[in-house]
Amino acid sequence: MAWDGSYLAEFLLEKGYEVHGIVRRSSSFNTGRIEHLYKNPQAHIEGNMKLHYGDLTDSTCLVKIINEVKPSEIYNLGAQSHVKISFDLAEYTADVDGVGTLRLLDAIKTCGLINSVKFYQASTSELFGKVQEIPQKETTPFYPRSPYGAAKLYAYWIVVNFREAYNLFAVNGILFNHESPRRGANFVTRKISRSVAKIHLGQLDCFSLGNLDAKRDWGHARDYVEAMWLMLQTDEPEDFVIATGEVHSVREFVEKSFKHIGKTIVWEGKNENEVGRCKETGKIHVTVNHKYYRPTEVSSVMAWFSFLVLPWSLCCGSHAHHWQQWPPECVIAAWEQGAAGGCIPWGSCLARGLLLLHSDVSGQQPEMLSENTK
Ligand code: GDP
Repeated sequence: MAWDGSYLAEFLLEKGYEVHGIVRRSSSFNTGRIEHLYKNPQAHIEGNMKLHYGDLTDSTCLVKIINEVKPSEIYNLGAQSHVKISFDLAEYTADVDGVGTLRLLDAIKTCGLINSVKFYQASTSELFGKVQEIPQKETTPFYPRSPYGAAKLYAYWIVVNFREAYNLFAVNGILFNHESPRRGANFVTRKISRSVAKIHLGQLDCFSLGNLDAKRDWGHARDYVEAMWLMLQTDEPEDFVIATGEVHSVREFVEKSFKHIGKTIVWEGKNENEVGRCKETGKIHVTVNHKYYRPTEVSSVMAWFSFLVLPWSLCCGSHAHHWQQWPPECVIAAWEQGAAGGCIPWGSCLARGLLLLHSDVSGQQPEMLSENTK
């Protein structure tokens, strides 16, 4: 169960679903993000969430689980999802992220569920890679820039192929980066927020980053899992780009996180010699290290906002979890955990409702396809 799968499981359980998750066997406990969803977390007694050992590299187990559960909806969030690591584990990434998706689709076919199951594929903005147009939308040509992106490209097209060849209700959610305190510690938002929390607690003086000028469209995972569900509730299966339509740099994320602990970061030097110094104390808290650069980096990815899932609150100019709100929450979360990481339930969310919108190509007149209000 992928890290954002914990939010999805929460969301579906609230809706009254029985949720079955696949967990990979590991020598250490790897269910920390979903433990609160057990009926009895201390005793690991399952309620409406049931876990099965399985792996996207093992077709037999996928057939067995799908045949046993006979699900109505399948969300494939399983992946080796770290872009930088995919350069080192390229073949494994292709096997899990690319062929793994085919194994899952084939298992649906083998179990005779093609006409009854709805399938969601976690596609990614990494497909756009070296972007061919700005902003990106569903019709933008793909140009992946990493083994991860290339593997996801195969997965994208095999999903389209099952939809067209077998009439499977299958959709690709082309999701831009989505973050939260549950995101893996080696992704940049968590790396920054945990380091800043450690600096605040006196456990760390300085940390290193790669490309400070990399820009991302960062949304909140809790909003994005709702978009996944909405995509399976439409009348016809279609692929959607999900994003906030707003990009920020790694540098801005650093500044914003430090601001939250009352420090102003001023930048000195250039490229690998650049440092981030605390204006108040004169201490260097951030350095740049080439080892965190990628062999090939994606361009600044940004979606055309009318193709997004938008909250009602867009009318008054803010997202369900707006950029102004959540980076500090990541810092607080790390801080509350003594910067140790792990899983905490997200704090109170803004009252919100999401719309699944699909624009015409001019982007002028979004058409509402599905909605979910709370
Ligand atoms: P990604 O968009 O899926 O690759 O998510 P990441 O959080 O791993 O990286 C987001 C961006 O932050 C990328 O453009 C990275 O090059 C950039 N970045 C800069 N420094 C770091 C770092 O120290 N760690 C990571 N993971 N990314 C970094």
